[in-house]
Amino acid sequence: MSFGDAVRAQLVQLGAALYDRGLTPGRTGNLSVRTEDEIMITPTNTCLGRLDPDRLAVTTVDGNHVGGDPPSKELVLHQALYRRHPTCTAVAHVHSTSAVAVSCLPGLSSDDALPPITPYYVMRVGRLPLVEYAPPGSAELSEEVSRAAERSRSVLMRNHGSLATAPSLESAVDAVEEIEETARLYLLLDGRSPGYLGEEAVAEVRRRFP
Ligand code: ZN
Repeated sequence: MSFGDAVRAQLVQLGAALYDRGLTPGRTGNLSVRTEDEIMITPTNTCLGRLDPDRLAVTTVDGNHVGGDPPSKELVLHQALYRRHPTCTAVAHVHSTSAVAVSCLPGLSSDDALPPITPYYVMRVGRLPLVEYAPPGSAELSEEVSRAAERSRSVLMRNHGSLATAPSLESAVDAVEEIEETARLYLLLDGRSPGYLGEEAVAEVRRRFP
């Protein structure tokens, strides 16, 4: 199945929304969607605020370029997530400021880098495993992200940014936005001994909103 105009338009629209909110500065960040045998991803070296629907890159699920401009150098990350989550059809990845800032801090949990500040974080993100630094586009980073993705649909990469996969591009974008907002709250609360949701409250949110 190939990618229709509606899918292309949605990629352009959500890319612009992320850019307008300051979540994909410069030419950073990438979005993708997939069918059974192909992936459509934002092209390499492109600003998400100015995507051209006719130039979006198309590759096979194995990463062979078959249409549009050359794909993002971070395609391997998207492939790793799709491999681990066969039911997910969209990935959003951003280098948003607060998420990157948090990813550089010492003492983060590798199982869940951010605390459950609000129920919305628990609902939209769930858990945020932290992956140690490896060069962008490297097989090592792809392997580590792929392993972390077994535990969660969202991942934070040290000194780099966040990733989320979901059954729809809209949900994946919602998740990276939620990660950014929670990271911002975490930084704002630093040093103030804030109260977070307790284990019971988190379990209840997970029960009510699986
Ligand atoms: Zn990146």
